Amino acid sequence: MARGGCGGLTRAALNSRLSVAKAFPMRPSNLSRLVLSLSIAAALGLPMAACTKSPAPEAAATAAKPAASVEKVVDEHSYAEPDKVRTTDLALDLKVDFASKTISGTATYALEWIDKAATQLALDSRDISIQKAEGLGADGKWSDLKFALGGKDPILGSKLTIETPNRPAKVRVTYATSPEASGLQWLEPSMTEGKKTPFMFSQSQQIHARSWVPLQDTPMIRFTYSANVKAPADAMVLMSADNDPAAVRDGDYSFKMPQKIPSYLLAIAAGDLVFKPIGARSGVWAEPTMVDKAVAEFIDTEKMIDTAEKLYGPYRWGRYDLLVLPPSFPYGGMENPRLTFATPTVIVGDKSLVSLIAHELAHSWSGNLVTFATDKDAWLNEGTTTYVQSRITESLYGRDMAAMEEVIDRNELKEEFKELDPKLQRLSLKPGDLADPDNSSSATVYTKGAWFLQFLEQRYGRAVFDPWLKGYFDHFAFQSITTAQFRDYLKANLVDKHPNVVTMAEVDAWLFDAGIPNGAPVVESGKFSTVNAARIAWQGSNNLPNPIVTDEWTTQEWVHFLEGMPDTLKPEQLAQLDTAYKFTGTPNGEIAMRWYPLAERSGYAAARPELGKFVERVGRRKLIMPIYTALVATPEGLAFAEQSFARAKPGYHPITTGSVEGVIAKAKDKAASTTVPFQPDAPAATPGKMESMEVPQELHPVDPAPQTPPES
Ligand SMILES: [Zn+2]
Repeated sequence: MARGGCGGLTRAALNSRLSVAKAFPMRPSNLSRLVLSLSIAAALGLPMAACTKSPAPEAAATAAKPAASVEKVVDEHSYAEPDKVRTTDLALDLKVDFASKTISGTATYALEWIDKAATQLALDSRDISIQKAEGLGADGKWSDLKFALGGKDPILGSKLTIETPNRPAKVRVTYATSPEASGLQWLEPSMTEGKKTPFMFSQSQQIHARSWVPLQDTPMIRFTYSANVKAPADAMVLMSADNDPAAVRDGDYSFKMPQKIPSYLLAIAAGDLVFKPIGARSGVWAEPTMVDKAVAEFIDTEKMIDTAEKLYGPYRWGRYDLLVLPPSFPYGGMENPRLTFATPTVIVGDKSLVSLIAHELAHSWSGNLVTFATDKDAWLNEGTTTYVQSRITESLYGRDMAAMEEVIDRNELKEEFKELDPKLQRLSLKPGDLADPDNSSSATVYTKGAWFLQFLEQRYGRAVFDPWLKGYFDHFAFQSITTAQFRDYLKANLVDKHPNVVTMAEVDAWLFDAGIPNGAPVVESGKFSTVNAARIAWQGSNNLPNPIVTDEWTTQEWVHFLEGMPDTLKPEQLAQLDTAYKFTGTPNGEIAMRWYPLAERSGYAAARPELGKFVERVGRRKLIMPIYTALVATPEGLAFAEQSFARAKPGYHPITTGSVEGVIAKAKDKAASTTVPFQPDAPAATPGKMESMEVPQELHPVDPAPQTPPES
């Protein structure tokens, strides 16, 4: 099969991530025709060769030698000094104030002093005002400590240095957040589903916990936590802790998280939230108007937990509940322990988006239980989770579904590798590779990471690999580890125990080289072969595929149909597709994020009004960034993007706002640089210099915008 036949992705794929939530239904009018989405539909076409036969990208970078296990681990995205002192417990006493859009109160840290000569406690903070720092004396009394707040680094925030000459067992900081806290979003009632009460929620990953709690904001440190939270009496407050399904809404709430977590799993939400159970240990928190729909959508959650437990051992976190957030949530989901935060864009009526829940649940093992020590090892969280997600999907919904999702992911990865800096194509990053952890290359971290584990699984077979992975989760449970530690464990417990199956050179090629190693396993999808044939036939003849075929298509097949299109089509071709499939106006974000950029690039003006409504309604970066990126490619589109963004901004999360502002600013800079009049005497007029001027060092002063928004 021709490589372009199925690997020819649109640019939309370049700027998007697919591994979390790939499945969307079509608009409601088409639902009945597509309702079978997740079942194994009747075989529609011959299981022909799959479209992933194209050669794997060549390894482009020189192999970096694995780090020695004894090497000192440094988290360059934190001011904390874990080799001197570690927080073992965090006690919060907070007040949530919707009027001022602030959280204020105290954070008390139980400290383990590792360096007995240390005299300072260094904490991370961002846009937080510090009123007081105190230390607990041996006499049980609190006394003031000197402190200093450093200048603000655009990525790291401000270092809070507290003088602790006596190394107190506990330190207490009194503080207040800023209304602009990067890790919090405050929504007016009008931006919620119910429109009656305001809403607030946190997103701490990657390094935004420091914007609402001053703390050692590095995944190298794990701590238990407790919290007392005061809020308006009509607001239910939830945290990534022991939420009580029967909690009385009285404005005064207490929480305990008895398992040690890294700071990025600290989470809070407050609003008009009600609970409805799914199973004995799972349920949904959502606004009242959303909760029934959410329960119906996520009804398989209990089955997913059972499936994951059979593979990887007991779920160790007590309850597993879901919190459905407003559409402005910048991610698909966030694996906050005991309470996954999820976008409502996955609630579409036919359970076709449940791979998002499989992903977030999988983090209960990969990520929350065994955690990356620094952002340089992000694949340990996301790659392993994407692998586990696929196993859950396969177990519940069949190999066809898992295979289609893997093909879509790997096509995206191959496309991304065409432009991605080789140093960011490595699973294990080196110090300095990643300036801002929000900008990690998602396809590499998620898809290449999962592909590596799929390679191991294929070589060893599930009878060997599954128990090994379960053992890995057990061995490192509640620890934060590096890629070097993973590698050592892999060598000792899999490679050396089962000789002549995989070499460490092969392992190291996956971990430390760019690209995908030769010999990577391919995945076959017969269903996509049918899609390819349908698309190619239409391109050659303008004859749409027989509805008998397309009526059976799942969202994954529609995604593949669109991704295989050329970069641009003729407007009349788009009109033909639109008339037949109602792409414009689709509530299905996975379709929208591919259709609108194609329409924009092709000059299909009919899609514009609905495109505008979509980006103003939805704040999930993955879904809207490809559309903004397509818009800003033309001056007229840039103007439209700016107008849409101005209307949407009040409802966007700060993380999304930063991303959109970055894309718009970059486009404007580019436009400005290309209109600079030629000046023979000026050095900047040389083509090389002009080129360098097009890429500003800093796209946005607060939150530099990723071109490829990672999901969680
Ligand atoms: Zn994830």
